[in-house]
Amino acid sequence: MKTDVFASRHIGIREEDHRHMLETIEVENLEQLIYETIPEEIRLKKPLRLDAPMSEHGFLEHIQELSEKNKVFKSYIGLGYHECITPSVIKRNILENPGWYTAYTPYQAEIAQGRLEALLNFQTVVTDLTGMELANASLLDESTAAAEAMTMLFDVRSRDQKKNEVLKFFVSEEVLPQTVSLLKTRSTPLGIELVIGDHTEFDFDTDFYGALLQYPGKQGQLFDYADFVSKAKERDIKVAVAADILSLALLTAPGEFGVDVVVGTTQRFGIPLGYGGPHAAFFATKEAYKRNIPGRIIGVTRDTDGNPALRMALQTREQHIKRDKATSNICTAQVLLAVMAGMYAVYHGPKGLKYIAEKVHATAHTLADHLEKLGLYQGNTSYFDTLSIKVDTQLIKPVAEARGVNFLYVDEATIAISVNEATSLKDVQQIVDIFAIALGKETIEVKGLTTVSAFSTSLRRTSPYMQNKVFNSYHSETELMRYIKKLERKDLALNHSMISLGSCTMKLNAATEMLPLSWSRWGNIHPFVPVDQAEGYQIMLRELEKDLNEITGFAGTSLQPNSGAQGEYAGLMTIRAYHESRNEGHRNICIIPASAHGTNPASAVMAGMQVVVTKTDEKGNIDLVDLEEKVVAHSENLAALMVTYPSTHGVFESSIKKITQLIHDHGGQVYMDGANMNAQVGLTNPATIGADVCHLNLHKTFAIPHGGGGPGVGPICVAPQLVPFLPGNPIVKTGGEKAITAISAAPWGSSLACLISYGYIKMLGEEGLRHSTEIAILNANYIKHRLHGSYEVLYTGEKGRAAHEMILDCRPFKQHGIEVTDIAKRLMDYGFHAPTVSFPVAGTVMIEPTESENLAELDRFCDAMIAIRGEIDAAEADDANNVLKNSPHTLSMVTSDSWDFPYSREKAAFPLPYVAENKFWPSVRRVDDAYGDRNLICTCAPIEAYAEA
Ligand SMILES: *Cc1c(COP(=O)(O)O)cnc(C)c1O
Repeated sequence: MKTDVFASRHIGIREEDHRHMLETIEVENLEQLIYETIPEEIRLKKPLRLDAPMSEHGFLEHIQELSEKNKVFKSYIGLGYHECITPSVIKRNILENPGWYTAYTPYQAEIAQGRLEALLNFQTVVTDLTGMELANASLLDESTAAAEAMTMLFDVRSRDQKKNEVLKFFVSEEVLPQTVSLLKTRSTPLGIELVIGDHTEFDFDTDFYGALLQYPGKQGQLFDYADFVSKAKERDIKVAVAADILSLALLTAPGEFGVDVVVGTTQRFGIPLGYGGPHAAFFATKEAYKRNIPGRIIGVTRDTDGNPALRMALQTREQHIKRDKATSNICTAQVLLAVMAGMYAVYHGPKGLKYIAEKVHATAHTLADHLEKLGLYQGNTSYFDTLSIKVDTQLIKPVAEARGVNFLYVDEATIAISVNEATSLKDVQQIVDIFAIALGKETIEVKGLTTVSAFSTSLRRTSPYMQNKVFNSYHSETELMRYIKKLERKDLALNHSMISLGSCTMKLNAATEMLPLSWSRWGNIHPFVPVDQAEGYQIMLRELEKDLNEITGFAGTSLQPNSGAQGEYAGLMTIRAYHESRNEGHRNICIIPASAHGTNPASAVMAGMQVVVTKTDEKGNIDLVDLEEKVVAHSENLAALMVTYPSTHGVFESSIKKITQLIHDHGGQVYMDGANMNAQVGLTNPATIGADVCHLNLHKTFAIPHGGGGPGVGPICVAPQLVPFLPGNPIVKTGGEKAITAISAAPWGSSLACLISYGYIKMLGEEGLRHSTEIAILNANYIKHRLHGSYEVLYTGEKGRAAHEMILDCRPFKQHGIEVTDIAKRLMDYGFHAPTVSFPVAGTVMIEPTESENLAELDRFCDAMIAIRGEIDAAEADDANNVLKNSPHTLSMVTSDSWDFPYSREKAAFPLPYVAENKFWPSVRRVDDAYGDRNLICTCAPIEAYAEA
């Protein structure tokens, strides 16, 4: 065994297992399997041109060297990003802990109570600090959250407003520039008219349906918006506010002056800057909008025994599931970061948060006093943490940069300075010194912090927040460490067993890929620093783009989108810009197969396209006759086809080139959903099948962990004709020559997370990547053969092979009274997370083992599935008291003094010998979704209240 070859650590199957596996699936060798799986005409003829693989040790040395090219300045740039302090106990026990970062979105609530509780904490913090009724469990960044507010309020306009086509949305000029750019992107396709201006001069014209304000303003000025909001209300103009979460510990909550939505980022709650992300944004609103709110909401419900339990609430209203009726496409969000931010609040509690906010405020005030003593004019009459200094910028900038300090240079005569949790008295002194030196004056010694407040009493918060027990219990490190562990133990993640979620590609997230994320030379870089300070990042990002171009066969990549769905939207927007550039802006039809992921139609609608659904035939392939009919019928206006390849049915459709050609012949572009890229890398690629653009889920194929539902990175890779339109950023130049406006707030999206995929590609190299794909296909086909006779595989390729995943039909078990959910829950008793349930076909499961699993684990999973099949056969339709219907079985059930089930405790909890050795206990019995949706509770406090009731 070559211990310095990463591929042999990433891939779970040993050389010596190959023969047994190949024999099981009845092929001579891997080549034959691939030959029978991927149509010959789309196979790559040459190996990918990638660097030779690095060893893990070599990669760590390399990434350390690269990090030294990043200059870590003290950045007081602000604009929604602030240096902060990640408590070490959170960094070590969550960020660096696979128990947290390898978990999946908590669809299987019974084995996800830990992160559900952590997310409920997050929602509670947000709800309390904003003074709203309801908050979701994170969005991608502040700017997209603001765009979601704009579109949600558009969607909930009054009947009169809809009738009168009230389309205007007011945006205060105090709103962050990256947010304005994003609002432009998102408003145009929907026909929303943005009007940007001074809120003090807004005339409350009834042509407006909504408005967005920034609290405090982009250069720190604090405004009292109470009058604005009450006037807006009189005209039925809904108001959203983008607020700084930390300032809300001291300032009147926007909910208290009557706003409809509050958005923002929780980055400064202990999340590293990471050159732009990932960070968790929040979205808080009124209960009245609970069915319109984008993203996921965690809610309280009860389990079979009536005990309190958590789960994702109102699932059927989850935006992307509404398909072309959706107003948002959000799927992956920022769960891991929300968990961390929520835990920051748990650790500090309301008193700690207030202390931090007061200290930050006092630091700003102290700095203002000293700069004023130097004779400078500070323009913010009321502020929280940001000063606006009138001075000749050119005088200050070189002195500051020479000392490793960044300010925000607003214009030639204005500098904004944002201080933060990490700003010490020494730092304040350094800033004062810089100004003194630049102005040729003697500096003034900074002796201590001012304690008076620099904002008017009308803005002073009087309402309490975070009174719940959870925020007032865990303030010592021992207590928090144990609380985090207590939650972690309730969650099944990849550090326990295989999570074979089809379409989601739950592969290894290697420790070596993750380590650099903890280093301050990667973590502590503000996204808007001059690019020459981020040379390490620039090299890494460019290399990653180059490698992704090579892997997809395309000409350009944008790393900006923060999720797969955001990539879809970005890709469709480049297609839209391309058509417009050729005076074919009328092309607005997007054809999407019925089997597509719900985000596809949702993204198309957001891009202003009209969705036309095309059928799939009984073999699961796109129905060519139906497709051709639709293409011909819409030839004039055809904008794009969105196609997943290999299909969501787990098959490489052999007619794919015919399909893409047909679209091109009619003037359309082909968008390939790259969620299934794990079946392609090194063997075929989107360019070869004839696509023009694809997104990649770096959090699926390229080893970024799912984090319990985010972060994600969803870059788009595009053919040459689309390169000019790759998205830009209003502050740092990026994207194509004719860049569309921003898709995400940060120029390169979640740069910090890109390190993971960079490491993955650099350590595997061409051979390792290709071999990973081959083994992913081998593992899927191995499972398919082992389950043969127990389960029917719905779709296969022409030669009977699955791709990297397969769908098992569970509908026939209805004759035994067994639903697919029963199988999913029973798998928990066997120590497994269910595969994907009911996507893309209702009543089925979709299994994707990935290359990282070893043979013994595949066998354990197959043994469990086969044993469950036996249990299904034994079940009687008219008697629901069976081991499947009662699953999952908790520890308290099987240790209870009373046991009146018609099967043994052993069969319930230890159905196979391997289970006893490594038992995972679901922490609650089956959760009652409907009950929770009828009694919606999405914050912590009522948990106790509920338990008492
Ligand atoms: C995961 C997935 C998406 C959406 O990706 P997110 O990162 O969750 O937004 C889109 N299409 C398919 C087929 C997927 O599996």
